[in-house]
Amino acid sequence: MIIETKFSLDDKVWTIGKKEKSDFIKCDACEGKGSILLKGEIYRCPACLGGKGRKTNINEVSFVRTPERISKIRIVLDAEYIEDGIDYIVDGYSFQESELFPSEKEAQDIVDERNRREEKKSLGKFKESLVEGKTSDEE
Ligand SMILES: [Zn+2]
Repeated sequence: MIIETKFSLDDKVWTIGKKEKSDFIKCDACEGKGSILLKGEIYRCPACLGGKGRKTNINEVSFVRTPERISKIRIVLDAEYIEDGIDYIVDGYSFQESELFPSEKEAQDIVDERNRREEKKSLGKFKESLVEGKTSDEE
């Protein structure tokens, strides 16, 4: 039996990470202070409840991680299951072949596409909220 792997031990590979991003919008009522002055007394702002504002929709942002080397390749062949697989261990984490990229450019292309898609999705959500006449964090 000959098993071919796309990558070899010690190959330098790029992987894609994800992080969440949202923007903070200052509260209009208290101008982001979290409190308001009323007749000489300071009160917690009733609009933001002292939170000083609100976050916009949280977007998932993909990014290219710094390249690492493959430290281990695990091949599982199992007659009982269809899901035979090749696992690559990179920087202590397990990756499938499709999650590894041989160049930064290839990883970046995927990242760009995912972020474009994510942006479109959040723009769609924003438009929906305009149609409904409310923002997403009004419950
Ligand atoms: Zn406020």
